[in-house]
Amino acid sequence: MYKKILLPIDLDQESSWIRALPVAAEYCQIFGARLHLLTVVPEFGTGLIGSFFPPDFEEKAVAEARDRIEALARDKISPNIRAACYVAQGTVYEEILATARDLKADLIVMASHRPELKDYLLGPNAARVVRHSDVSVLVVRN
Ligand code: ADP
Repeated sequence: MYKKILLPIDLDQESSWIRALPVAAEYCQIFGARLHLLTVVPEFGTGLIGSFFPPDFEEKAVAEARDRIEALARDKISPNIRAACYVAQGTVYEEILATARDLKADLIVMASHRPELKDYLLGPNAARVVRHSDVSVLVVRN
C-alpha cells in the first residue's frame, strides 16, 4: 500500500522520533516500504544577521546534521529496513512538503508536537504539513 514513507525529524527533539520512528518502521515492515528520514536546518540568511556568522557556518551545520541523522538511522533502525537520510535547508514545513513531493512519498509520519506543548493538539509544523500535504499524513501523538 505505502512504498515511500517520509519521517521528518527534529534532531534537537527526541520527541520527534521516539514514538514516530517505531510506527514508521513498522509500516515499512508491513508494506515493504522504504523509509526516508529528513531533517531541516534553518537558513542563516545573507543580510545583517547572516553577516555575523563565519562563512563556512552553514556548510558545517548541514554536515553536522547529516552526521547526526545518519547516526540515528544506524542506531535506531533495524538493518532489514531500507532507509535513506536527507538534510534540507529552509522553512521546516515547506521543506517537508517539498521533499515529500520530490521523493514522491506516499505517506508522511510525524510526531504531533513536543510534550511541553500539551495544550496544543498539533505543533505548528505538524499542523501546516497536515493542512497542505496532498499525501496522507500519520500524526503520532506525543
Ligand atoms: P513543536 O513546535 O511542538 O516541536 P512541530 O510542529 O514543530 O511542533 O513538530 C512536530 C513535528 O514537526 C516533529 O515531530 C517533526 O516531525 C517535524 N519537525 C519539527 N522540526 C523539524 C525539523 N527541524 N526538521 C524536520 N522535521 C521537523
